Amino acid sequence: MASADRIANRVADRVRVLLPMPVGSGYDYRIPAGMAVAPGDFVRVPLGPRQTTGVVWGQADGAVPDDRLKAIAARHDAPPLGAAHRRFVDWIAAYTVTAPGSVLRMVMPVPEALDPPAAEPGYRLADPVPSASGPRITPQRRRVLDALAGEDAVAAGRLRAQAGVSAAVLAGMAKAGLIAAAPVAVRADWPAPEPDRPGIRLSADQRAAVQTLGAAVGGGYAAFLLDGVTGSGKTEVYFEAIAEALRQGRQSLVLLPEIALTAQWLARFEQRFGTAPAPWHSDLTRAQRRRIWRAAATGAARVVVGARSALMLPMPALGLIVVDEEHDQSFKQEDGVIYHARDMAVVRATLEKAVAVLASATPALESVANVERGRYGRLVLPERHSGAPLPAAELLDLRQEGPPRGRWLADRLVQAMAETLAAGEQALLYLNRRGYAPLTLCRSCGLRLECPHCAAWLVEHRLAGRLECHHCGYTRPLPRQCPECGAEDSFVPCGPGVERLAEEVAGLLPDARVLVATSDTVRGPAAAAALVRDVRDGAVDLLIGTQILAKGHHFPKLTLVGVVDADLGLAGGDLRAAERTWQMLNQVAGRAGRAERPGRAILQSWRPDQPVLQAIAAGDRDGFIAAEKAARERYGMPPYGRLAAIVVSGRQAGAVRQAAAALGRDAPAQDGLQVLGPTPAPLALLRGHFRHRLLVKAARSVNLQDYIRRWLSRTPQPGGIRIRVDIDPYNFS
Ligand code: ADP
Ligand code: ZN
Repeated sequence: MASADRIANRVADRVRVLLPMPVGSGYDYRIPAGMAVAPGDFVRVPLGPRQTTGVVWGQADGAVPDDRLKAIAARHDAPPLGAAHRRFVDWIAAYTVTAPGSVLRMVMPVPEALDPPAAEPGYRLADPVPSASGPRITPQRRRVLDALAGEDAVAAGRLRAQAGVSAAVLAGMAKAGLIAAAPVAVRADWPAPEPDRPGIRLSADQRAAVQTLGAAVGGGYAAFLLDGVTGSGKTEVYFEAIAEALRQGRQSLVLLPEIALTAQWLARFEQRFGTAPAPWHSDLTRAQRRRIWRAAATGAARVVVGARSALMLPMPALGLIVVDEEHDQSFKQEDGVIYHARDMAVVRATLEKAVAVLASATPALESVANVERGRYGRLVLPERHSGAPLPAAELLDLRQEGPPRGRWLADRLVQAMAETLAAGEQALLYLNRRGYAPLTLCRSCGLRLECPHCAAWLVEHRLAGRLECHHCGYTRPLPRQCPECGAEDSFVPCGPGVERLAEEVAGLLPDARVLVATSDTVRGPAAAAALVRDVRDGAVDLLIGTQILAKGHHFPKLTLVGVVDADLGLAGGDLRAAERTWQMLNQVAGRAGRAERPGRAILQSWRPDQPVLQAIAAGDRDGFIAAEKAARERYGMPPYGRLAAIVVSGRQAGAVRQAAAALGRDAPAQDGLQVLGPTPAPLALLRGHFRHRLLVKAARSVNLQDYIRRWLSRTPQPGGIRIRVDIDPYNFS
């Protein structure tokens, strides 16, 4: 008894602190006298010779003797991480078979946000005010004095803008004793979106969906698939769910795939709610991230919109999570903690007792299956709001009507482009290949120019005058002489990239104003906004672009979409290749004719008989889904079975092969589970690392994570070898 008491006492003044590091599950620390800490508090703790910040995670385990225990150094003045968010961190870690600290690191990416922002420099009126015979009051000075009248103090930047004066004017006035320096607390608030501004008149289908969602918000956990063709008003519908969350004082989080291209989305939000939401994406400055992280964590930001990583933001009053374009691949994070933000958004909603809305015109098979299992409700918007029919998709058989050698656009497509432009409308050519040509080879010896660090070809970027590896970023100029056979000027480009298409179009339609849009030419939100403006204003006739164009834009005058190579995604041996191609083709085709003008889509293919392309041409969505589901079920593939990839990599080819083989031999036997491989990964060399892959395939009843943890813990990991677990893999390269 007595000893148990002693342990209880000893544990009471210590806590476990989780640190944002990829090892272990936290350390015990002593709570110093006079400090009160609670679970979720952000604290500074000693770690070796340094200090670092972690989160009080819970009870200490008491194994460390008192004299070895270090004390918490300080507590940050930040809102604590709520219990639901802490469970979320543990949940992701367990599901992805990673350390909880790695997940925590994603939750606190701007540690300086944990402290209240320092005051910024500002000015107030001098006290006492100099007499009338004092310093001269110029019009500029008058404006400054007017701006300060009745205010405690105004930040210098805002004062300059308000009065339209330079910093020198302010400094001069301070020197003359007219105004005095005064620090201004940085504003922690965020403009509140107004839910009750007049919205648009919804259609009957939209109203029904809004009613269901509105009733669900605030009523605990619920998940919905919002399933409607492009342009059916899904955005309008979930805006109303956000309005309801706002009325209830709860926060909303909207995840979008390509944050770089959300200028239009932001404008619509602002139109509906009177102010912009808090954005979260990789293009923010450090100061912006700091402010927005804190606004989310304090609850000041009522609506946050962001890319995948926004899912990790602490939001104490979270009531609604929307995942727009939920089928999009960019929600899968492929490095660091490998997780799928759509799936984890639903997990977060369950833990926060919030509503999850997954919106798409081409839902992922995973989501379709979850509707069938009764886990998600389904809200359907069957029609385009404008009543405009979805563009008819025509297949163009390259075997029969393909262009002559060295050209990539068939006559029928070129003809359609010419007609479209002649009618004052716009066209889009879609090809998911950046650069000029995907392959460059030597005409005299056949050498293909490859990346020295990856098992991949170098891609010619003619505008930049370089060859580039799209996997590791390695670049070099095009060699004049073949390193293999010594021939001069012998390299020829093979196959088309978007730059090469632009060249072809310039020859065929010399008057067309062409814009090439890829991640090379459209960098960041400002460039994206400019692109959208140019297209809407009609400054562009023809867009040529990659997947960067395939997402949620609304270009009213765009009436023709040409898919240059509809077979492209179907080549690899990837389980989602058909699904992805179907989604992409639908999205791209959905760009056309969104307003009153009917659209047209032409898909060039060498194999137009493929079921995916047939289903698209026939507009047979249900037929496609049924066929794809049947195939997955037959082979026990996700979402009807579980899959995990184990990738073994390292710099020494032999060591990697041996480690992968040893891992394969050590795999414990288990019913309902199969380990396939190891085999060299398709990208057998990436960034100088050799890669072998094992696949674990299991029935849905098997706890895959437990199995993998057991397996990996009994196999010693040789030095120099990295083992990565990818649960529900999407990337098979
Ligand atoms: P989705 O998100 O399904 O692609 P959007 O919500 O973007 O569809 O709607 C497509 C277009 O139709 C937008 O310009 C939108 O403002 C408009 N729209 C949708 N519903 C209505 C409505 N009920 N009244 C007026 N315009 C609407
Ligand atoms: Zn490379």
